[in-house]
Amino acid sequence: MPDFNNLPSKLPQGKTSIFSVMSTLARENDAIDLSQGFPNFETDARLKELVYKAMKDGHNQYPPMNGIPELREQISAKIEDLYGVKYKVDTEITLTSGATQALYCAITAFIHPGDEVIVFKPAYDSYEPAIKSNGGKPVLVQLKGKDFSIDWQEVKDKINASTKMVIINTPHNPTGTVMSKEDMQQLEGLLKNTNIILLSDEVYEHIIFDNIEHQSASRFPGLAERAIVCSSFGKTFHNTGWKMGYCVAPEELMKEIWKIHELTVFCVNHPMQRAFAEYLKDPENYLSLGSFYQQKRDKFLKLMKGTKFTAIPSSGTYYQLFDFSEITDEKDTNFANRLTREHKVASIPVSEFNIDKKDNKQLRFCFAKTDETLEKAAEILNRI
Ligand code: PMP
Ligand code: GLN
Repeated sequence: MPDFNNLPSKLPQGKTSIFSVMSTLARENDAIDLSQGFPNFETDARLKELVYKAMKDGHNQYPPMNGIPELREQISAKIEDLYGVKYKVDTEITLTSGATQALYCAITAFIHPGDEVIVFKPAYDSYEPAIKSNGGKPVLVQLKGKDFSIDWQEVKDKINASTKMVIINTPHNPTGTVMSKEDMQQLEGLLKNTNIILLSDEVYEHIIFDNIEHQSASRFPGLAERAIVCSSFGKTFHNTGWKMGYCVAPEELMKEIWKIHELTVFCVNHPMQRAFAEYLKDPENYLSLGSFYQQKRDKFLKLMKGTKFTAIPSSGTYYQLFDFSEITDEKDTNFANRLTREHKVASIPVSEFNIDKKDNKQLRFCFAKTDETLEKAAEILNRI
């Protein structure tokens, strides 16, 4: 019998992600699921029709490795319109299996054993394992204060000859904060005259509120020249289960990303690429997203006003953090667990994203849900 118990793990600390844990717990307990980030309403019927049409039209074999040119053209035009920079259709845009695969390819393509990568905490949970599985070292920078701001002096102090990459995420999961123009300029200044690569996770680029403008890394020449920008159709078009996304980067960087992309998936879903190429022709399909989700955020906040949960302002993403210290001093993981089992509302304990899993008595609720679901959840939370 082979003994696989003592195989050296590439990720000895790795475990099932909190998103799977909480969504499974929600299903098992028949709870309202405001944990994992996905909408509980349908993607546009027109988009589904476009996918079906592409299948009927015979687009069912491998597309080009980096994606079909029609879709890359649409993406290039969209970025030029929004952020004023032109990515080359043939060499600087790649369709991926969600942003997750783009992030993994970008990290794997460039991180060698011993390389350091600056990661802001709390952070989305896929960055650090991807860095570590490539032998790299995450260098953590805590976001500061109630508004989760970035201490640029600390970032400066942590940059050294081993720093290979900086990862940013704006709008930010889980806090809902967004990076300002000044933040981006600070970063631009710090990276000037270095060979540091910027990995910019912008999956919530269109889910931004209160007339704030998304500051894409591609808007800033000193960042764009070194940035891999990742986007997600799943987040933008309410179909996270399709696992479609893309990344853009200068061609010298993209050449290396392709080597990993080819090895991991080679290419991604053909009929869906055809559908998105059509669907992106109408900018309203993504430009309307901010106001759509702002209404949801405001509705959810209003419904939660009478509760003992204290809202922490969210300017983007479809997450809302709440402080629950007025209710209990139990650990956020315990409280989230109990809330799901006893009260039938599932959320995400924020400690999972923090340095050393620090518990600040905060839960993350996803408000990408129908008004009816938000009302039902808030009714329960109002009784706690
Ligand atoms: N980055 C962040 C910050 C996310 O919240 C998510 C969640 N889906 C992803 C990347 C992954 O996106 P996708 O579903 O397109 O793989
Ligand atoms: N991005 C989603 C979230 O933050 C979930 C993604 C996942 O399940 N890996 O909830």
